[in-house]
Amino acid sequence: MSKTKIIAGNWKMNANSNDAMHLVKTIQNQVLNYPTNNTVIVAPPFVYLPLVSNELNNNSSVKIAAQNCSQFNDGAYTGEVSATMLHDLNIPFVIIGHSERRQYFNEADEILLEKINQALNNNLKIIFCCGENLALRESNEYFSFIQNQLENTIFQLDENQIKNIIIAYEPIWAIGTGKTASPEQAQAIHAFIRALLTKAYGTDIAQQIPILYGGSVKPSNAKALLSCNDIDGALVGGASLNASDFIDIIYAI
Ligand code: PEP
Repeated sequence: MSKTKIIAGNWKMNANSNDAMHLVKTIQNQVLNYPTNNTVIVAPPFVYLPLVSNELNNNSSVKIAAQNCSQFNDGAYTGEVSATMLHDLNIPFVIIGHSERRQYFNEADEILLEKINQALNNNLKIIFCCGENLALRESNEYFSFIQNQLENTIFQLDENQIKNIIIAYEPIWAIGTGKTASPEQAQAIHAFIRALLTKAYGTDIAQQIPILYGGSVKPSNAKALLSCNDIDGALVGGASLNASDFIDIIYAI
């Protein structure tokens, strides 16, 4: 089991500046005595990154992530935000490959690999999402589908680069649906991903890379999921917008 435990909250396109301030202040106050090996990450919308980031103490257990970055370095790409800009604002993490980016913004594996390289070139750590939809789950082809998603992207990285990756397994059929993978279903995929990592990079590296579960994590199911051997934390959507629910999940680890 890897040592670092991570609970990350993806706010998506939600919250206003007041909500953002309230959420980050409440979370930070509640984790003053959080175990030092564990990290909480909040991922607000781009426009609120400076606001939220300014609220965080340097030694806080709470860190900040962007929800996306451009595959381009700079130039005439209206509306895009580069990894260089995130680095400029001291944002340490970025989410890449969220299923909503893949589905609504046509981000295929080739584009995701370009984004990964942009992020790594700017010293960002990456929460990289993978996961199957309902049709794949029902057809039993999800293991090979997830293997392909990883082989086309993060498994292209060398041993030093892969250490900057946090994997988030997020079955699409469980995102925002209220349906959660059972601890056994989630653990099976996490163990599979860990085995792929071991084969590609060896045991030491495979044990160090955190593998988070995402998909309707809430206070009522967090403990059962987070106590599985290969589940090193959670990527939380809806429940991360409610400070009290998110804090319950943070302490379920
Ligand atoms: C997500 O979008 O990453 C997610 C896990 O959402 P939710 O927790 O709402 O299912």
